[in-house]
Amino acid sequence: MVWEQRWHPLREEWVVVAAHRQDRPWSGDTVAASTQAELPRHSPECHFCPGNERVSGQRNPDYTGIHVFDNDHPCVGSDAPVDLDVPHPHYRNRPATGIARVACYTPRHDLSLSRLGVDTTHAVLTELATQYRELGARDDVDHVLVFENRGEAVGVSNPHPHCQIYATNFVFRTIANEAATCAKHHAATGRALLQDILDAERADAKRVLTENDSAIAFVPYFARYAYEVFVAPLRPVASLADLSDSERRDLAAALSDVLVRYDNLWQMPFPYVMAFHQAPTDGREHPGFGFHIELHPPLRKPELLKYLAGPEIGGGNFLSDTSPETKAAELGALPSTHYRSDP
Ligand SMILES: [Zn+2]
Repeated sequence: MVWEQRWHPLREEWVVVAAHRQDRPWSGDTVAASTQAELPRHSPECHFCPGNERVSGQRNPDYTGIHVFDNDHPCVGSDAPVDLDVPHPHYRNRPATGIARVACYTPRHDLSLSRLGVDTTHAVLTELATQYRELGARDDVDHVLVFENRGEAVGVSNPHPHCQIYATNFVFRTIANEAATCAKHHAATGRALLQDILDAERADAKRVLTENDSAIAFVPYFARYAYEVFVAPLRPVASLADLSDSERRDLAAALSDVLVRYDNLWQMPFPYVMAFHQAPTDGREHPGFGFHIELHPPLRKPELLKYLAGPEIGGGNFLSDTSPETKAAELGALPSTHYRSDP
């Protein structure tokens, strides 16, 4: 039984781990089990499939690899309204400028990153490094947030495998806090905070899922979500763009390994929010920043969502019903070959 508070060093907050609550009686809603309906290789209704018309009226090219394009429903854009009213001088607002893009991993509508293998995952990371460099170099972009929402449990309507890129005129709060925390740690110790975390995880080893020459994946000691995983290069860098090609390949291998285990866990497409924590591109120094990928799955069990409620939404700290060591052991015991090895 784990019943204690664990310090989350990157977020500088306590996580309440109360794993004895996992099996408490539950009479609330459950998430419908994934139907795992067979998807077609190409869907005429999909706005992301090759050759199809998008919402904007533009037509997708007959792409064969990774395809990046501007989001047709952007949350930030160069054409955001600039004539804004503010209702009271105590309040502030400003135009929602920036660039929002979509990156389709593959022309295949029916696949997922977990089934694309290391080569394609490597190519995806290489393209995302290019996007980070290109968008981050713009004067009007302070930060490039790359993320993938996977599955209906996190609100995804189009199953075509893709991630999103938000290049914004502000730094997203989680990254801004992390950059400040890492800079403080670096000033105090001369070390990258992520490096210290990696040292601790490797020494403890209980929560490590996979490690290769230059990358590692583990359930962090201070995980907030069941099955939460960090994937990181062993060498602390600011972004994907700072890795060598072989380091990006190792990172792709570690990420791919985790995504396969996720799907194998309940033999279903495993939902998650995946976010790339890369240093802001605001022109400032970010000493000690440690690029890594965070995976946050919303499910505690195949049909049971982790609800964010009083502690999380009301109080701002997480209450975790699961022990990170138990979840790491579950993931670690799974085969590293996808249960559907038929792409
Ligand atoms: Zn599609």
